[in-house]
Amino acid sequence: MNFKPADKIQDLQYFGEYGGVNPSISDSSTYTFLAAKSMMDTFEGNLEGCYLYSRHSSPTNLYLGQALAAMEGTESANVTASGMGAITPTLMQICNAGDHIVSSRTIYGGTYAFLKNFAPKFGISSAFVDITSLEKVEAAILKTTKVIYCESVSNPLLEIADINGLARLAKKYDLKLVIDNTFSPLQISPAKLGADVVIHSLTKFINGSSDTVGGVICGTNEFIDSLRNVNDGASMLLGPVMDSLRASSVLKNIRTLHIRMKKHSENAMYLAKKFELDGLKIIYPGLKSHPQHKLFTSFFNKEFGYGGMLSFDAGSLGKADELMELMQKRNLGYLAVSLGFYKTLFNAPGTATSSEIPADEQKEMGLTDGLIRFSIGLDNDIERTYQEMKACMQETGVLKYQL
Ligand SMILES: *Cc1c(COP(=O)(O)O)cnc(C)c1O
Repeated sequence: MNFKPADKIQDLQYFGEYGGVNPSISDSSTYTFLAAKSMMDTFEGNLEGCYLYSRHSSPTNLYLGQALAAMEGTESANVTASGMGAITPTLMQICNAGDHIVSSRTIYGGTYAFLKNFAPKFGISSAFVDITSLEKVEAAILKTTKVIYCESVSNPLLEIADINGLARLAKKYDLKLVIDNTFSPLQISPAKLGADVVIHSLTKFINGSSDTVGGVICGTNEFIDSLRNVNDGASMLLGPVMDSLRASSVLKNIRTLHIRMKKHSENAMYLAKKFELDGLKIIYPGLKSHPQHKLFTSFFNKEFGYGGMLSFDAGSLGKADELMELMQKRNLGYLAVSLGFYKTLFNAPGTATSSEIPADEQKEMGLTDGLIRFSIGLDNDIERTYQEMKACMQETGVLKYQL
């Protein structure tokens, strides 16, 4: 594919109010109108370019949305207070009571909990399927299905969705394909592969400094406008708005996203290859042993590599805990949820980020107790990191177990 997401961001030009090289930050919740009639027209959605109230939109949030829409190649985008604040309004906007969602079974724990426990309160039901099988996805589609939902790179098993194939199914049955692209910004461009809506938790790689939560919904002008509609827009009415000051800081961090993604990928690839040679069963899309390695390679934006996420089974929860504690003690990273930080982060998802998923379902999807999910950091000397991590694995017996 020759869509160049980083260049699209770079091609945008911003000037601040006083000629600043960064756009001015809008620091107001409400906006004046010189004529009373323009206020009415704005309320009715008949006037472009006027701001009304910052839950609806604000200049700074629009700047950030514009950069993210450019990155995903969509007409528009709406930034939100968190990733969940992007996912839940999107699904509630598309679905009515009685509707059905076909979702991947390997999704972010919060999304799973929303679909499984919360959405049914509003009459929205979901089927959870193995997203890597187009046959299983198709078989789960009902007359009431409105959405196919998945993550381009799934959490935490790093399965890769066949977005082209899913888009064909969505077209065939007149469904919306909604893709959470949080794990693979710049690397995968789901809208270019046929997705209708692309979502990110900005909290992770995109902001990259673990100092805030944030989210974005990227889609057509029509869909984004519908979310902001004062009468029936889910983003407007549920209210997960990002603060303007924060939007300006996320926008500044996006300036280095392309550099960071390349480094995350380079470091993860290095460790994945080394540890696989050492005999660990590494899950990493860049390795030939990954079941969807070829698929990923067929559609990714190559210059950004295979991503910063890597998982492997340490053998048991006890071993995983022991290893993570030792690695933290040696300052190789932090035992923490989340991802996309300059420092390596690791956790055992079965008991942390995916704990919303019941044990028997975890087992069925291949999520074992000893699985550790790594978000590989921006370490300058990755060979040094490898040697130190390997020592931790040998000391805890994790490497011996696998051999
Ligand atoms: C973190 C995450 C979310 C939720 O985002 P928040 O910003 O924490 O609300 C959704 N999807 C994925 C894949 C995530 O990693």
